[in-house]
Amino acid sequence: MSDYRKHIGIIGGGIAGLTLGCALLKQGIPAIIFEKMSEETSHGAAISLSFNALCLLDRLDIYADLKNQSFIHSEASIQGPQKEISSFQTPEVLTTRRQTLMSLLYSRYIKLGGEICHHHDLESFDVVKSEVTFTNQNKYALKHLAACDGIRSSIRDAFFAANQDPKYSGYSAWRGIGKSNLQKIHFALGPDSHIVSYPINKDGDVSFVAVKKEDYQFKESWKEEGSISDLLDDFSAYDPKIFPVLEDSAQIYKWGIYVRPPLKSMITKNITLLGDAAHPMVPFLGQGACMAIEDSYSFAMACKEHMTNLANAQTDYDYVRSKRTKKIQQLSMMQGKVYHLKNPILVAARNAIIKHTNIPGNDLKRIHDYDAHDEMQIHLT
Ligand SMILES: Cc1cc2nc3c(=O)[nH]c(=O)nc-3n(C[C@H](O)[C@H](O)[C@H](O)COP(=O)(O)OP(=O)(O)OC[C@H]3O[C@@H](n4cnc5c(N)ncnc54)[C@H](O)[C@@H]3O)c2cc1C
Repeated sequence: MSDYRKHIGIIGGGIAGLTLGCALLKQGIPAIIFEKMSEETSHGAAISLSFNALCLLDRLDIYADLKNQSFIHSEASIQGPQKEISSFQTPEVLTTRRQTLMSLLYSRYIKLGGEICHHHDLESFDVVKSEVTFTNQNKYALKHLAACDGIRSSIRDAFFAANQDPKYSGYSAWRGIGKSNLQKIHFALGPDSHIVSYPINKDGDVSFVAVKKEDYQFKESWKEEGSISDLLDDFSAYDPKIFPVLEDSAQIYKWGIYVRPPLKSMITKNITLLGDAAHPMVPFLGQGACMAIEDSYSFAMACKEHMTNLANAQTDYDYVRSKRTKKIQQLSMMQGKVYHLKNPILVAARNAIIKHTNIPGNDLKRIHDYDAHDEMQIHLT
């Protein structure tokens, strides 16, 4: 059995896991990542990241390279299914291919001396011996277990909240990447649906997320490949030109958006939950991955402060992160309701607020202006 008794063992090499790996190694804390998939895994379409995540990626020396391969926005526009409502300035948002972010996190982690064990699917964790076992029969002793294994976290099931399986939120989302000359973030809002589109680089690649509220039975997984005509059928109330031009061979997928109830605490014994494993959320504020990055950075800071007593690191982490992530989970759900209004009087009121006030921009700015480094620093000192 390999001995990682001095290491924080990270289950899951997604956005949370890789960010945590980078943040721990940068603080000089040994870390090891176990990921069930192979290295060749594809990571979905595109992602938007706001300042609260970007300032941390900058501290991890990833931002400069990310910026070069992405699109930085300061402007957005909103329309109804057919008609423009308003254009406005946004706080800085970066949009990019998910694969670009993952590759940069991965390279940084390896550059910092990190090790990642692929094909390691967690089977069980013995909290008393602090020993992790994988389905390939490999076993390792660890100092601590950081669960970054996403919304279907088996660690959460086993140690935090049994019988709280992820539930379909009532929303499904089509995602894809095509070509268009769009130069800003564009929202189209309709009854029970909305479409967000944005360029992800300077080469005309534009990503879209088209969300619909519907009862839908996903057959085998939470993701189904679909055709362009299925997509256009689902969004027939909108002008089809809203979508970027997709190649006939382009792969587009319809995803079921799932949620789990908030947890009382993100820590127990020698286990800490981070990212979607702790607080999956509907994606209407574009904050799920941002929260995963904030969690990971904050936990690494707490570990550095309390290296000889990680229980204290867990308590500090839980105190700071539970408040923030619960609030963002609630706000994300509320944003879906605002986007999908049906009542014409409420729609007119929402559109007037968007057009004539700074309220939506200011609400976003409050979320984006949060600096997890400063917040954690205040709490630790
Ligand atoms: C439609 C949609 C659009 C979104 N858009 C945005 C956006 O614009 N901005 C944003 O900030 N967020 C967005 N999100 C949310 C974001 O994708 C997630 O919050 C983020 O990916 C969570 O990262 P994570 O590392 O916690 O989990 P994951 O990305 O799910 O990673 C979990 C990792 O753990 C591994 N794993 C799982 N089980 C095991 C096991 N048993 N053993 C070993 N490894 C395991 C998995 O293979 C995976 O690599 C969006 C989500 C959706 C659905």
